[in-house]
Amino acid sequence: MFGVYGDPEAATLTYLGLYALQHRGQEGAGIVSAKNGDLKRFVGVGLVSDVFPKNKQHRLERLDGDIAIGHVRYSTFGTSTLKNVQPLAADYAKGSVALCHNGNLVNAGSLREELEADGAIFQSTTDSEVVIHLMARSKCERFADAIAEALTRAIGAYSLVATNGEELVAVRDPLGFRPLWIGRLGDAYIFASETCALDIINAEWVREVEPGEVVVARHDGLESFKPFPPVQPRPCIFEFVYVARPDSHIFGRSVDEVRKQLGRNLAKTAPVDADIVMAVPDSSNQVALGYSHESGIPFDMGFIRNHYVGRTFIEPDQSIRDFGVKIKLNPARTAIEGKRIVLVDDSIVRGTTSKKIIKMLRRCGVKEIHFRISCPPIINSCHYGIDTPRRERLIASQMDADEIREYLGVDSLVFQTLEGMVSATGFTPSDFCLACFNNDYPTPTPQDFQSNRKARRHEDISQELGIVG
Ligand code: AMP
Repeated sequence: MFGVYGDPEAATLTYLGLYALQHRGQEGAGIVSAKNGDLKRFVGVGLVSDVFPKNKQHRLERLDGDIAIGHVRYSTFGTSTLKNVQPLAADYAKGSVALCHNGNLVNAGSLREELEADGAIFQSTTDSEVVIHLMARSKCERFADAIAEALTRAIGAYSLVATNGEELVAVRDPLGFRPLWIGRLGDAYIFASETCALDIINAEWVREVEPGEVVVARHDGLESFKPFPPVQPRPCIFEFVYVARPDSHIFGRSVDEVRKQLGRNLAKTAPVDADIVMAVPDSSNQVALGYSHESGIPFDMGFIRNHYVGRTFIEPDQSIRDFGVKIKLNPARTAIEGKRIVLVDDSIVRGTTSKKIIKMLRRCGVKEIHFRISCPPIINSCHYGIDTPRRERLIASQMDADEIREYLGVDSLVFQTLEGMVSATGFTPSDFCLACFNNDYPTPTPQDFQSNRKARRHEDISQELGIVG
């Protein structure tokens, strides 16, 4: 997610910012720009380079104005179709609005039901659209207040940027699940999910939007207010483990440093005699380096990654994902043949990627594989914007570590401990959402809302029938 306020090249800067944020979503990309309150939108499915290719430069050139917001999508709510690609945009009684949202709302289903019962017609199946409907119904005069009022009804994860063509509003939910940065480029204000997107346009890092904070960029500067009851923030630790780029800073830390420390901690708790340490590139590179530094076992590039394919897992369709593993990684035979290797990966989700990777290594004549995972077993689905499958499909919810080791066909398998993972960040467990590892969800889950709705319906029927108790 990216936003610019106050630069005549707003859309082009946003395009560059989205390029740096491509790892956060590869199914769709889009930009809305604003000039004198008029919004122009271009969105499409695919990578930023598919949606805004060089031979169709007019798409970007059309997006004039000195405000722009942009988004790269990967579907954690709603399908992967054009109508769900953000920024979403709409006209309402007070003008136009465009919005980009990162994260998932856990009560989107019940809010949508309520809005639809009141006559609302939805254009998409995303959870983000409920924010637009709630905002349009607000009696607040100011755009930022209307957004904030809408969000007081939303529960879950939202880092968002929105514009009405006159100002740009950036908000982070009170638990601060997803990152969001403020930057400065000359007189312009920049908003970005990660600092790597500020770097690409040489913007200065100002600070992170705080959990529960609303920041409004307008011609006379930045305004900030906190409309939500304060709570202990619980950012997503999986941002450090997998999602964010290592050259970014998020939640007050360098992702690169956290990942190296994850590797050092793993080397201390799960040492092994081996010839080389290698990573499953790219998200495990720094972890493998940390393991190598701590253990003294040399790091080698056992896999060569084809950089022209995206993150396979992100593709929503299983058949595409299976094919993707093969075209993405190829073992460098001479680096690994006959060797005892420590293979480092960031996480095991379904186990399908690991299984294929290990088969490939075995075929190359690797002598021993000692698999080390930089996070603990993932045993619960995420409801806050990470694409984890249903619980039953998470291998660690079905098998213990020894069964997984046998299933994958490795000589040893050790996961990072929860303490080892958290301590790598320098924070404490209560500073994070760790729900996918420990089942401690910081909000009610979508299932809770569903069962409440069922209970309410039951209540209604009971009242109609005059049943008491
Ligand atoms: P699998 O165990 O086959 O489901 O895939 C696990 C691999 O996918 C890990 O090695 C990660 O690099 C990557 N991964 C983990 N979580 C995600 C996610 N939410 N989105 C995309 N890729 C992921």
